[in-house]
Amino acid sequence: MAAHLSIRDLTCRFGGLTALDHVSFDVMPGTVMGLIGPNGAGKSTLLNCLCRIYQPSEGSIRFEDADLLQTRAHDLCRAGVGRTFQNLELFGEMTVRDNVLVGCDFRLGAGFWSDLVRGPKTRRAERQATELVERELEALRLAHCADSIVSTLSFGEQKRVELARALVAAPRLLLLDEPAAGANPSETEQLGRLIRHLRDARGLTILLIEHDMSLVMDVSDEIVVLNHGQKIAQGTPAEIGTNPDVIEAYLGE
Ligand code: ADP
Ligand code: MG
Repeated sequence: MAAHLSIRDLTCRFGGLTALDHVSFDVMPGTVMGLIGPNGAGKSTLLNCLCRIYQPSEGSIRFEDADLLQTRAHDLCRAGVGRTFQNLELFGEMTVRDNVLVGCDFRLGAGFWSDLVRGPKTRRAERQATELVERELEALRLAHCADSIVSTLSFGEQKRVELARALVAAPRLLLLDEPAAGANPSETEQLGRLIRHLRDARGLTILLIEHDMSLVMDVSDEIVVLNHGQKIAQGTPAEIGTNPDVIEAYLGE
């Protein structure tokens, strides 16, 4: 089977600092790849290269048939890539529902002309968007707070709002940056079930950056370990858990 996401020799430098150093790995369709490593290892940088926020100095990223480095950041959603952020990127003073609705923007073809015309096609798209939003609010246990202002929610709930917003765009590749941060153990367990559900029931390919080892070990099909910008190991959770280089990297943190 061909890889869904293929990263080759990805290198990203900030001045004299090499945040990513020739990192290569493949993610197969419908699998969860865990991306772990001590603080400063380069995990968020890799995600930001994928999302076209940072420009890598070398390397390639292929997703499906596309060269992702030729895709502009605002076209990623249309290309089938969705993400959540390590630090939330929500509209704090808007409701949960409106924040999630933003994720449907590209489906609505929002813009000057469609606002002006608002023909039957736009209205149908709007109805579809509303249905999708309600479905994801249900799926992420946010229906009860759909009309709440986002900034009044707990951090864990806000993380779910971000995830809902990514999901309404129907991504085929989902990038999650520390989704369990700020979650309590029971929320983390629910998140694990949700990630498995997204993979098994919806067939999503997921790249998961996560600090919570029990979650990564629990849901990942495979794990890549970064340290100082380099890939130091790749394997199943069982292989990674007993890899001496990985244990040493974490002990030195
Ligand atoms: P992680 O997410 O694994 O904790 P990061 O990818 O955030 O690590 O950071 C990797 C390294 O790159 C760190 O040394 C960090 O300080 C540096 N870095 C990340 N982003 C920038 C940036 N925009 N400018 C300069 N240095 C950066
Ligand atoms: Mg990070």
